[in-house]
Amino acid sequence: MTREEKRAALRESRVVLVSACLLGHACRYDGQSKGSDRVSQALAGKEVVPICPETGAGMGTPRPAVVLRGGTGEAVLAGQAQAVERESGQDQTAAFRRGAELALEAARRFGATVAVLKERSPSCGTQGTYVGERLVQGRGVTAALLHASGIITVSDEEL
Ligand code: SF4
Repeated sequence: MTREEKRAALRESRVVLVSACLLGHACRYDGQSKGSDRVSQALAGKEVVPICPETGAGMGTPRPAVVLRGGTGEAVLAGQAQAVERESGQDQTAAFRRGAELALEAARRFGATVAVLKERSPSCGTQGTYVGERLVQGRGVTAALLHASGIITVSDEEL
């Protein structure tokens, strides 16, 4: 799907799932938010369902930075890659999968057909995410599950 097609789908949608950090919630791993005027403008008049897969799965804020290991979000969902804390290597795969499932549940419960997600996050990235120290093309775990489930995923950087 092209950027223009995604933007058109967003314009036509009524209910939108949105990464909570883009709405100004201070839920990032470093305790910061990523509030975006561009996102707010794109969501004007829509029903917004905020999600934060990582805090939703019980990870606190602030929390250790997590990277994917062995592949992108699709590989994590397939059991072929993991989500691990960057410094300690502690495995957080179960929490990342749980967070993704909760986001999908929210989309279904509220009838969201489109999700606007924060780029480059190991959960929410739709075009790029970190595998180890490398930024690679691909989706984070939540973006991968939403995409596989028919939700149109749009990066905040595509708006
Ligand atoms: S990018 Fe996703 S997981 Fe990370 S803080 Fe934002 S909403 Fe939460």
